[in-house]
Amino acid sequence: MSRTAAAPPNQSSARTLPALPNAEKYATIVTRFAPNPDFVLHLGSIRAIILSHDYARMYKGRFLLRFDDTDPRLKKSALEYYDLIREDVRWLECQWDAEYIASDRVPIYYEHAEKVIRSGDAYICTCTPEDFRLNINSGRACPDRSKSPEQNLVAWEKMLDGEFGEGDAVLRIKTDLGHPNPAVRDWPALRIIDPVKYPHPRVGEKYRVWPLFNFGSAIDDHLLSVSHVIRGKEHLTNALRTEYLYKALGWEIQEYVHYGRLKTTDIKLSKSLMVKEIEEGLVGGYSDPRLPTLAALRRRGYVPSALRKIVYEMGPRPVDATLSWDNVNATNRKEIDSIANRYSFIANPITMTVSGVDRTYEAHLPLHPERKDLPGRVSKVVPDNGSASLLISSSDVDLLKKSKVVRLMELFNVEIKSVENNDIEAAFHSQDYMKAREVKAPLVNWLPGENNLIGEVVMPDASRTEGPIETNIRQEKVGNIIQMVRFGFGRIDAMNDQIITVYYAHR
Ligand SMILES: [Zn+2]
Repeated sequence: MSRTAAAPPNQSSARTLPALPNAEKYATIVTRFAPNPDFVLHLGSIRAIILSHDYARMYKGRFLLRFDDTDPRLKKSALEYYDLIREDVRWLECQWDAEYIASDRVPIYYEHAEKVIRSGDAYICTCTPEDFRLNINSGRACPDRSKSPEQNLVAWEKMLDGEFGEGDAVLRIKTDLGHPNPAVRDWPALRIIDPVKYPHPRVGEKYRVWPLFNFGSAIDDHLLSVSHVIRGKEHLTNALRTEYLYKALGWEIQEYVHYGRLKTTDIKLSKSLMVKEIEEGLVGGYSDPRLPTLAALRRRGYVPSALRKIVYEMGPRPVDATLSWDNVNATNRKEIDSIANRYSFIANPITMTVSGVDRTYEAHLPLHPERKDLPGRVSKVVPDNGSASLLISSSDVDLLKKSKVVRLMELFNVEIKSVENNDIEAAFHSQDYMKAREVKAPLVNWLPGENNLIGEVVMPDASRTEGPIETNIRQEKVGNIIQMVRFGFGRIDAMNDQIITVYYAHR
């Protein structure tokens, strides 16, 4: 990993990021990305990761990965997701300089909880959530608020040793009871989660008191010297909460960059919805092509440079941004068009019988239209008694019905005699491309009638489209991104002697 790069990697667009606020105040710019390992990452996370990482690189600073895994009940992490998230972040070319896991740092959170209890800036509240809400919404103090630090330390011990059960008590940070936003007033910082009912995937039943997101991340941001917290506008209230905690601890608040919301037209970015769909078996898993997870995008042939371009377009601006599949696909197409080799794949094939084929014809097709240096692809048509059998896509049938002559790409021109159901009779017309142009013959993609491989294309809706795919594709490897001529881009997901499985990206 390079720490000397002045510009973020793969920044192929001319765009750059605007300066960070008050960067000069800090000897080292430190940013962090703090995912909860309760699922893989998805399109909704790319802005936080890429901006945080690329800013750290831009300022020759440090980028931290911090796993925020302190909710074993509602946002329960799972061991597999730590690694999957690491894979996602690496794939985005956002290598981190240091990694922290919140569940390793619980004693640190306890230490700071005790500090703010001793200083009288926090108390143990034993109200029911309903009572607390009633009080706080009308600006009234919880009855526990006026207790002494000594009394609160006793109650804190009861939280830790199990005398209080789940939901019986919560540690709250004192704020302004008249704060215009009730969500800021005396916010909860640590709570009890039954360790037997909800063991933590990493530390098991070791802890029964867990910090809430606001407390744990705020403590770590200071202790890990984070200079700039780059995150969405939905965290504005959290920044207000943090101010009270930092004041109590005598810490200086770091810089915040709150970017606008990400609105999507046709992309469902709800993590809980995705998890639900997987649990209910509506989708096949976290890399199902219907999901906007990075794992699914990676599988389908989207590239990190395209996602980085999208993030740079949005930047760290506070205005809301809109994202659609059209937008993501158009950006990705520009990135992969130059690297994807071309192959013929005939979706839902039908047979065309061509009479009058007097000899073997060879079609020479480019592997890539702009890479004449690469060896081309050769497809052979061998007639049997003057008649050749070819495969074309059933989606071209309407075109054939309307045309007298069509050109089979890079092969020869044929005259259509009859189109009946899934059977096409044609006759050899001419070989010359100019002849096809003279009669404005449309181009039709084709494959020889036999000796093809089986192509199985997994579409974005997870349906499978099958058809023959040319044998030349054997020179590719699993993971390569290809273009299926006139069908679309995709990534080879698996190959064996007969079957090539491709995950479809877009046209
Ligand atoms: Zn209370």
